[in-house]
Amino acid sequence: MIDDNDILLRVRHLKKHFPVKGGLLRRQVASVKAVDDVSFDLPTHETLGLVGESGCGKSTLGRAILRLHEPTSGQVWLDGIEVTAADKTRLKALRRDMQIIFQDPYASLSPRRTILETLLEPLQIHGIGSKAEQRKKVEDLLEVVGLRKAVLNRYPHEFSGGQRQRVGIARALTLNPKFIVADEAVSALDVSVQSQVLNLIADLQDEFGISFLFISHDLSVVQHISHNVGVMYLGKLVETASAKDIYADPKHPYTRALMSAVPVPDPKTKSRRIMLSGDVPSPMNPPSGCPFHTRCPEAMPHCSQQIPAATNVGSTASPHWVSCHLHGDEQTPTGPATKPPNAAD
Ligand code: SF4
Repeated sequence: MIDDNDILLRVRHLKKHFPVKGGLLRRQVASVKAVDDVSFDLPTHETLGLVGESGCGKSTLGRAILRLHEPTSGQVWLDGIEVTAADKTRLKALRRDMQIIFQDPYASLSPRRTILETLLEPLQIHGIGSKAEQRKKVEDLLEVVGLRKAVLNRYPHEFSGGQRQRVGIARALTLNPKFIVADEAVSALDVSVQSQVLNLIADLQDEFGISFLFISHDLSVVQHISHNVGVMYLGKLVETASAKDIYADPKHPYTRALMSAVPVPDPKTKSRRIMLSGDVPSPMNPPSGCPFHTRCPEAMPHCSQQIPAATNVGSTASPHWVSCHLHGDEQTPTGPATKPPNAAD
């Protein structure tokens, strides 16, 4: 059971709806519900892996938490400070504690800046240290991410993808953050380089105690690095549990379908792929009731009418939250260890 004092990041009922404009007057005619009422807690020194198909809202959720996308509604607290209520000055100070690693390190690094200039920039913006101290900090960071000082005066195009991502990680670490969103941080890398960068992220967590929201469409990558895993579908968290529980016994039909597509390393083990019918519905016009009912192989008549509540099918010590009518509300056991996804406060 997680103590409230151990929670670093608290997200409650977060929504990010993008307006869709149309007509001659460019009035809002609809909205894309990219993130729709998401709640979760992330403890200190832990990683929450966030998975789901492309377009399910994972990256938008990461950006809305950091206020790179301004949330439509909901609240986010980092270490007890409400990020969603922070004014410009407060938000600038909070940015020291929360950073992001992007998917494409090449696109996220300026091609005109040397690695030294790139890594010095956050320290200069926040006025941290003298010039000599800033230089020392940058050299130390390079060592932390396994790069030599000799690369400081080089430009991003002179590096391999893995090296560039190490620079991206070094930049995210510059201000000693407490929380990092890693958004598809290894998806653009070769498999062998992926494991090096994943090991680096795990080592950094051990050494500096950083909490990560690790976003990926690749379930095997998420399994490798996460303490807990959340599954998103059409802007909502539909299942959340420890990585061990969710991979051993996924409860939501959508999670089961995603898991069935993960390659099994042992050729003697046969796994049955669950093929989902139809396309992902538009987040502009999500289905009524359970948003997954149009593709669910186990859908029941009432699934299209009633929105399933989040139910803890695990224990108080090891909660396993699922939003599906197969796991009815009446099955809620002894109560939540942390606040459930989409639960009222
Ligand atoms: Fe499938 Fe119904 Fe569960 Fe939704 S609530 S996942 S449609 S069984």
